[in-house]
Amino acid sequence: MRNYIKEIALGFFPVLILFLQFIVGLNMIPLVFFMALVVGLLYVVRSRGNLATIGGERKGKPRAAAPLSFDEIGGQERAKQELVEALDFLVQEERISKFGIRPLKGILLAGPPGTGKTLLAKAAATYTDSVYVAASGSEFVEMYVGVGASRIRDLFKEARQKAAKADKGSAVIFIDEIDVIGGKRDGGQHKEYDQTLNQLLTEMDGIHTTDKPRILLIGATNRKETLDSALLRPGRFDRHITVDLPDKKGRDHILRIHARNKPLHDEVNLGKIAEESFGFSGAQLESVMNESAIYAMREESEAISQRHLSMAIDKVMMGEKTDRESTKEERERVALHELGHAIAAELVRPGSVSQVALSPRGQALGYVRHNPQQDHYLYTQEFLEGQIMIALGGAAAEELFYGGRSTGSRGDFDQAMSIVRSMVESGLTELGIIDGSMMTPDRWATITRSILDEQMDRIKQMLAEHKKVFLHSLDVLVAEETLGGDRFRSLLQNNEAASDEQDQMSMA
Ligand code: ATP
Repeated sequence: MRNYIKEIALGFFPVLILFLQFIVGLNMIPLVFFMALVVGLLYVVRSRGNLATIGGERKGKPRAAAPLSFDEIGGQERAKQELVEALDFLVQEERISKFGIRPLKGILLAGPPGTGKTLLAKAAATYTDSVYVAASGSEFVEMYVGVGASRIRDLFKEARQKAAKADKGSAVIFIDEIDVIGGKRDGGQHKEYDQTLNQLLTEMDGIHTTDKPRILLIGATNRKETLDSALLRPGRFDRHITVDLPDKKGRDHILRIHARNKPLHDEVNLGKIAEESFGFSGAQLESVMNESAIYAMREESEAISQRHLSMAIDKVMMGEKTDRESTKEERERVALHELGHAIAAELVRPGSVSQVALSPRGQALGYVRHNPQQDHYLYTQEFLEGQIMIALGGAAAEELFYGGRSTGSRGDFDQAMSIVRSMVESGLTELGIIDGSMMTPDRWATITRSILDEQMDRIKQMLAEHKKVFLHSLDVLVAEETLGGDRFRSLLQNNEAASDEQDQMSMA
């Protein structure tokens, strides 16, 4: 019926205008201009509010997703368990209304990027047999006051309509990067943000137990601490689930999930890859599996081998190899620098080097990949001092062999300084327990210099005792470019033994 009215109006008004202009003789031109202006303005406002297009993609339009179950999410056992417990409130509808429990309206998933928050939201929709609509916080950001708020209204409306159309009793709305619209309202920011957040709060307050379809809002953020307290109070996003980087078991699980559709060589040990990919997120692990498949395909191999996976870890960690040409002297310097890190690592934490490489990747001219035997979440002063020594090992080696350093140690110093910072802030230095933010730059400089100088002296002395090992390993590294952890360790042992023999012979 509404369409009919629209079509009749579209036909009737032009005829009326023509009639008045030519038959009756009225001047209709100003009116036509005025109407064209109004229609144009309406069009702009509507397209900004709803269907703005960016690079051909519809912006602000909720996205649907294919069903996904919790089994397809690796690791995150605690997050999955907490989420399922929360979702059971939604599933056991009769029981919760019998006990007069208010509905669960919002669940906040907080954690680093790529850890599976979107996957969890999709799995939540599948588990509760709900329709799933997703949007990202940045899609609600506009210069024009009120546009973001109207998009929020549309999002909820769309979720309800979709649920009705699909004949489902509930809908899950997922808002990624919720911090973009849900940041603290301190009066300093744009009024548009406040209106968008207010609209979100209003929509959440409008969710009732008896409503059909029931709506569950899942928000995701990497910066929970920036969210406005109004959003986090009971009755809104009152379930907070931490979605952290996976531990070794989790990484192994994620790798297995992404290996399902890929041919793996029998020799592949995914457990070892999980060990070597400490600190990787689920998204990075997915990328490791994908890149390894690309390497295997490029080499026309039948299946993915351990070497392909190892190359893929390097690529994901450091970026693609670059074709930077370097001189022989430069290569030797880089090799000695990397050997400095690697030998320091083996001295401080035996068995921890997983690869030493001389090939330039990203910004680095060479690199050492470490392989922590265990995931650590708590660090002692001794452990952190060891980390500083490993970070300074490259510069120490350059000093030993060239009498000075190069710009290649810049990143290492940044790393060492950030360890010092966390030592100071955790009360692990001679300063005792201290608030880092109250310290003057001078005091920071003094403590940093004292710790770094002390560790630099220690590592220089340790490396000086193994100077011969450097020279023996240098040629092998320059010739082979990449040394795996086991090969590097056997080289070290052989060289140590050879040096000892030489020493004994020269003494005799
Ligand atoms: P962001 O905060 O950047 O939005 P996110 O936490 O929402 O990231 P997802 O979008 O869920 O991360 O994950 C991105 C991709 O990484 C997924 O499509 C999947 O391939 C992979 N992935 C991440 N975590 C896992 C996991 N736990 N199990 C399996 N795959 C995962």
